[in-house]
This record gives sequence, structure tokens and C-alpha cells, in this order.
Amino acid sequence: MARVFARADAVLTLAGPDGPRAGAAMSELGIVEGGSVAVDDGGAIAWVGAHAALPSAFAEAEVVDCRGRALMPGLVDSHTHLVWAGDRKDELELRLGGADYEAIFARGGGILSSVRKTRAIDEDELFEQSHVRIRRMRRCGTTTFEIKSGYGLELEAERKQLRVARRLARQAGYRVRTTCLAAHAVPAEARGSAADRAAFIDRICEQILPALVREQLADFADVFCDRGAFDVEESRRVLQAARALGLGLRVHANELGPTGGAALAAELGASSADHLLYLDDDDRRRLREAGVVATLLPGTSAVLGKPYADGRALIEAGVPVAVATDCNPGSCAFENLAMVLALACYGNRLLPAQAVCAATHNAAASLGLADQVGSLQPGRRADLLVLATADVRDLVYHAGSPLVEQVWQDGVRVA
Ligand SMILES: [Zn+2]
Repeated sequence: MARVFARADAVLTLAGPDGPRAGAAMSELGIVEGGSVAVDDGGAIAWVGAHAALPSAFAEAEVVDCRGRALMPGLVDSHTHLVWAGDRKDELELRLGGADYEAIFARGGGILSSVRKTRAIDEDELFEQSHVRIRRMRRCGTTTFEIKSGYGLELEAERKQLRVARRLARQAGYRVRTTCLAAHAVPAEARGSAADRAAFIDRICEQILPALVREQLADFADVFCDRGAFDVEESRRVLQAARALGLGLRVHANELGPTGGAALAAELGASSADHLLYLDDDDRRRLREAGVVATLLPGTSAVLGKPYADGRALIEAGVPVAVATDCNPGSCAFENLAMVLALACYGNRLLPAQAVCAATHNAAASLGLADQVGSLQPGRRADLLVLATADVRDLVYHAGSPLVEQVWQDGVRVA
């Protein structure tokens, strides 16, 4: 039935155009004081405005009293690897003891240890393990999820991961966009020679991507274009093959060094370039001109003890910025995007309002979903959060506190 979220001290509508927002527009949250949001019985937002102007058609609707609280769009996590098997808590202790991420990877740990476990696990068990995590993420306020594969590195296991991601949507009701990240790492069996490595790239382009597109398991493709992973030439090949198959593009870029991934993302017009710890003015200009969303993942910097991407410089350069968790078994298993939003302020130097835009509308725009989620406007899905505070800056000020009181998706309370 119709429902009204009534008399919130502040409704953060993020009303505005569907495209990714940059510069000053990232600070404009479209706040309505003393506002209400009316939701129709189909789970769409029907009306938003000052409560005094609520249309009489909603006089009989069920009321959620939001006095003393803020209402905001559900968070959009546009970069996760949340479907994986097992854990890597042993590496956590190695790293805290001084071992380096790239050194662990070179010894067959890191991504390749998750690949071994994810290849071996049965699909139903992988679904159960992933469901536990995504449920916790939603309890923290995330209502839309991007999920990458990349722990299979061969067709069967990549397919298994993406099937689980689709099941989280179809069977468990989560709002999910999927990304094939078969080019996450060179698998053990392809590390023997340059020819083996080239054959692996061929398999991605000619076998894995076409099969997953045929089975409608992938919305995007992604490449780890960085030192120790794939170089610019290899990454370009994979991304061009993906684009020819109709997939959107995302790139893990410039995380470990100034390795050319961001420029490649701009050259190919990718939806998102992610990490971006090592950028220069030229990279930022290219990203802006190409309209690429710069996705910051400050949780990974915190866990790995790496520098933080300069989010303020990106915003000053006019690049639209998103913030996501990077939730993955190794370099950052954070699930709470509201807390990561605070890290984006303290680490990436965003202002709280910019971080809110980054983790809602801009993240949705990078996933091609801004016409559905990421803002509270008539016609959008009723994915919204009722905060236990009237001031959204408390998400930063009291980072990590349980300030997300209610989570609603499609007008239904889910947490
Ligand atoms: Zn990632």
C-alpha cells in the first residue's frame, strides 16, 4: 500500500540530472527541510516535498514518522568483489607483521589463493557465504551492489561467481549489477611463459567474455590494469573485446603506480576508473573530458597502508567522483559503505556532502542506474534510509556508529 515517510528534519533528495555530477554540483544535496516522501504501492517514489504540501491523495497512506531524522537515498556500492570463497585472515596478520601485498601475491597468496578456494567450492555454498556478507552490507545501508567476478580466471568458475551474483538478485531480491573481471590476475596455469600468458588473454576475449554475455551474466567488464597484473596493451585488448560484445567498461587503474590505466579508461570512454592513487593533471583532464567516473576506494588504502587517492584534486579538476567499499577477501573486506564514506573524507579529502553524492547518485550513474536509484525523486525506486540523526554529517563525525536506523528497498523495509 502507499506509504508516506513523513516530516523528516531533512530529506536529502539529490534531485538533479541523471548524469554523473562534478565540481560544485557534488555538494548540492537538494535538501528539503520538514520534508516527506510519498511512495506508491508499486515501490516507486510518487512525490517529494515539504510536508505541508503533501497531496491529499496520500492522506490515507501508512505513515513512517521521520521527525528528528534525516531521509536519504540508499547507498550504492559500485565496486565490490563480494562473491568469494573462504577468507584471507592469515594474510591480514602477515601484512600487519610487515609483509607487502605485492610480495604476498608473488608467493601465490593474495588473489590466487582466493581463486583456488572459489574454483573448488560448490555453487550453493558460494551463494550461502556471499549471502551472509551482502545481508550485512544492506543492514549498513547499501541497497544497490556492483559485484565482480575475478576469482575464477577460467570460464566455469567465472560463470559460477556471476551466477551467484544473479541469484542474489533474482532469488534473494538484492539490486545487483554484475561485472566480469576475468582479467583480475594471470592464473597459475598461465604463468609458465609469455605464450601461456597471451593464450590466457585470448581465452578471455574469445571464450570467457562471449560465453558470459550469451548467458546474460555480465553487465560490465573490468581489467586490473596495473603493475603485476595486466599492462595497458593487454588491458586494451580485453576492454575492446568487451565493448564489441556490448558490455560497459570499468578499470582497476593506477592503484600500485602511474601505470596508464586511467588514461586507457579515458581513451575507451569507460564508465568508471577505480582506485587512482597515482594520477597527474593530465590524467585528471583526460578523465574529465571523457566523462569517466573516478571511483575512490579508501578502505583499501587504510587496510594496505597505502596512500589515499587525492579526491579533492579530482573534484577540483571537474571529474565526477564515486566512493565504494572494494569489499574483497584480501585487500579490504569492509562491508559498511557509510563508514567508508567517512574514510573518503578523512583520507581522500572529500567534504561530507561530496561523499554522500559520491556514494549515492554518482555511484548509481557509473552503473547506468541513476534513472532508478541514487536520488529521491518522483519515478525513482523507493530505496531509502532513515537515519537516527537529523544531520547527515554525523555519518562522518561519528563514523562507524549505527546511524542507519531503517533500510527500505522498493518501498519495503529490508533492515
Ligand atoms: Zn577491486
